[in-house]
Amino acid sequence: MFSPYAALTLLSQTWSWFAPQDLATGSPYTWMCTNIERAVPTARLSYPGSGAYANDTYHWLPSSSQASACSVEPGNIQDVSDILKVLSRYPTVPFAIKAGGRATNPGFSSTPGIQIALSKFKDVTYDPKLHTATVGAGLSWAELYTELEKLGVTVVGGRIVGVGMLLILFPLGYSYISNRHGLVIDNIVAFKLVLPNGRTTTVTTESNPELSWALKGGYNNFGIITHYVFKTYSLGNLWGGGLIYTGGNISLVVPAVADFQASNTNVDATVVAVYARAPSTPPILSVTLFYNGTTRLRVSLTSSLLSQELKKTTTSGKRFFDVMPYKLLIHGVSRGAMHTVSLTDLSVPYYYDGPGSFTQGSSLIVFIEPFIATGGVTSAKNDSSYPHDKFFTPLSLLWRWPGEGSDDIAREKLKKAAAAITATAESEGQQLADLPLYSDYSLSDIPLEKLYTVNLPKLRSIRAKYDPAKTDEHIPTRLVMDRAGGFHF
Ligand SMILES: Cc1cc2nc3c(=O)[nH]c(=O)nc-3n(C[C@H](O)[C@H](O)[C@H](O)COP(=O)(O)OP(=O)(O)OC[C@H]3O[C@@H](n4cnc5c(N)ncnc54)[C@H](O)[C@@H]3O)c2cc1C
Repeated sequence: MFSPYAALTLLSQTWSWFAPQDLATGSPYTWMCTNIERAVPTARLSYPGSGAYANDTYHWLPSSSQASACSVEPGNIQDVSDILKVLSRYPTVPFAIKAGGRATNPGFSSTPGIQIALSKFKDVTYDPKLHTATVGAGLSWAELYTELEKLGVTVVGGRIVGVGMLLILFPLGYSYISNRHGLVIDNIVAFKLVLPNGRTTTVTTESNPELSWALKGGYNNFGIITHYVFKTYSLGNLWGGGLIYTGGNISLVVPAVADFQASNTNVDATVVAVYARAPSTPPILSVTLFYNGTTRLRVSLTSSLLSQELKKTTTSGKRFFDVMPYKLLIHGVSRGAMHTVSLTDLSVPYYYDGPGSFTQGSSLIVFIEPFIATGGVTSAKNDSSYPHDKFFTPLSLLWRWPGEGSDDIAREKLKKAAAAITATAESEGQQLADLPLYSDYSLSDIPLEKLYTVNLPKLRSIRAKYDPAKTDEHIPTRLVMDRAGGFHF
């Protein structure tokens, strides 16, 4: 096994720090900033050159940042409503809603127009009777876990929670406890929402089943969410650890990960493997092991290799922070894009090395998430618009490269990598054609049918109800939320 410290050094050569920066702007939308400033004086409006603007427009990848005319931080729900009302009157002005800014597609939470940053929504209220937490949409997972862990509870949430890791909770997906409790969206009991017309509402399955269904996968199509109400779970003893392999050991661990996915039945045990490939360093496979249980190993890891390692390397704690390794690795990076493949088993060689040789400064990182078919990841049935009633396990490919000029080429390479892995899996007999792709990991130009499959027509009709096309001859037909970028139905 390779020393984790040496590997950290190698990986740090491929992961560079990216601090918030000012993006020069000569925006044609600056007049709109003045309108918002007048109409919503309680919101904080910031212009290029200020620290607040730099934070508000900051994205994890510089390639998904854009220079905005100004940024605005609504301080409360009324501010959000007033901002949307102003914006809805000017159909030519683009805007963006940013929670954590981890979207890897440019334009999804960045804009040349008005950047709305939800950073002031950081309140957490725990209800011990209902076992729920109402949380502001501007909290990071790290902040939320820290608050709730003081009360001995947690939520189903994001996995990378390192110091400074402001992965904010736009919730769809996959967590360390998804094998038991399902996806993040399966654990939301209510949304506080500002509709495209500025009206505020609380949406639950009981009060509005169709909108609740649509919001569970619908991103910004139905307005701006200011708060989520999550189910909470008592925290038991957590065990976690990380291992790093290089060279010939990779080929030993790859089948162990596939074996774990195929044969593990313990819903409290989770493994995430990350394969990293860069030109100046040997390939690295890191494996994170996580177990939510009272004893060190009561895990049916039938793969003897991972089972041995889990015994040796895990530490125990009461908080995700205590047990999760590599918290500092996933800091800001250079230009990049993410794409995905949905697999039904992990026996395919996901350690794909990319078409052609890597140029200096590029890297491919593949996140392998061996969820189990019998676990909570398929438990939602028809309760959410993100289709996950059929079992699949998503593979996420993050391609990074230097230099703006090669963005299109790099994204095409990423598609080729995904297509090559899909073809290999299909040649092994996996039936992938009808499986959705996981939208949080997907490139922006993937047909919506691939993301939402049979749910797309219903999403479109709900969308038309809440954000109807305008018919006024003086106002171009453009739905309000279409101007916010992202996957729009
Ligand atoms: C390092 C890293 C780790 C990740 N780890 C995980 C993981 O463990 N599990 C997983 O499933 N996924 C994971 N992802 C994927 C991640 O969940 C998505 O990229 C997610 O969309 C990021 O949320 P964000 O708040 O940073 O998004 P942003 O970039 O801020 O927004 C993404 C989209 O959601 C919209 N949006 C955001 N907030 C709101 C709101 N309140 N109301 C309406 N619309 C809104 C935005 O307009 C935008 O279109 C990871 C991604 C990265 C880069």
